[in-house]
Amino acid sequence: MFVDTHTHFYDEWLLPDADEAVRRAQEAGVGKMIQADVDSRERPAMWEIGNRYQGTIFQMLGLYPGSVTQDWREELDQVHRIAAMGYFDNSTFTPVDQVHDGFGRGQFLGTGPSPTNMPQNGLDPLSVGPGPGGKIGPSPKFSQTSIVSSLDQVHSTHDTHSTHSTHSTHSTHNTHSTHNTSSTHGSGSDNSACNRPEDCVRKCPIVAIGEIGLDYHEGLEFVKEQKEVLRLQLELAARMDLPVNIHLRDAWEDLFGVLADCRHLHLRGNLHCFTASYEVFERANRYGEFSVGIGGVVTFKNASLAKTLERIPLEKILLETDAPYLAPVPHRGQRNESAYLPLVAAKVAEIKGLSLAEIESITTQNAEKLFNLQ
Ligand SMILES: [Zn+2]
Repeated sequence: MFVDTHTHFYDEWLLPDADEAVRRAQEAGVGKMIQADVDSRERPAMWEIGNRYQGTIFQMLGLYPGSVTQDWREELDQVHRIAAMGYFDNSTFTPVDQVHDGFGRGQFLGTGPSPTNMPQNGLDPLSVGPGPGGKIGPSPKFSQTSIVSSLDQVHSTHDTHSTHSTHSTHSTHNTHSTHNTSSTHGSGSDNSACNRPEDCVRKCPIVAIGEIGLDYHEGLEFVKEQKEVLRLQLELAARMDLPVNIHLRDAWEDLFGVLADCRHLHLRGNLHCFTASYEVFERANRYGEFSVGIGGVVTFKNASLAKTLERIPLEKILLETDAPYLAPVPHRGQRNESAYLPLVAAKVAEIKGLSLAEIESITTQNAEKLFNLQ
């Protein structure tokens, strides 16, 4: 069995076909898939799919850097509210197709802590309730003082590595206006909403904080806010004792600045869509324990990534699709699916000089361990 450690069934490109895509993935031997979270617009659809495929599809929770705009505090508040509850409660969200606030966002109507109780740093609500597996709680790793902004101390130097330039833009995430979430209910699957907290914790475990990070590719308007949001979500991950899933584009130096500031959190996680050098991998691991997520890009003509991968230890390699983006050869340029994950695995096997079965077994063990997949 393979594990796709980063996918987006709820993306509008894949959503109409999500149930079929899950079936095709399972037929291809991809038994577990983790959906990366993006923002409040996409979240209801993500969790709805997660509800239907408990034990097969797992969820991350987090605010994507490309979704950090003027309303970042409101967005981050929702992330913290969900974290405080330990689950996503569909009953507290207005279906996005019924929202007319001009943003198309799902609105949190509140069974958790009220917004007035939310401090701007968004941390205190974590004390209000248990999390998945009872993981939320005061952590000795956590230090409130570390959230003090040191934005001015962080280099604003832009990344000079061009190796990440092939990463997907997720540009559609910023342009979505509506999802008809009711249309995504599949046939024959468990599509009951999370009406009871205990059901939601069981059905929709949050296995990572992600995808979070920095993305300067689309513009530099919210660079400071992106760094602050990243820092706060790294704190959240430490508090929840969860791994992080890092999205990074054109911003390695700033990422290292934030990670250096958060070294005391002893973070663990995954560098999603890794296409950088071995030196970047090594440097990231000075600040925490980081694996690399290898996807369709490895099947492109890219000798440098293959050389890098040769040097990265097997226990640090995870497989991912980032579907519907970044489809591997021979589907390059088309809509990606988790079902294509074995194509990525085959290329990794070739680079590592191992059998496909060995790569399948090792990367699945790596994923189940890092994300504690049950
Ligand atoms: Zn993604």
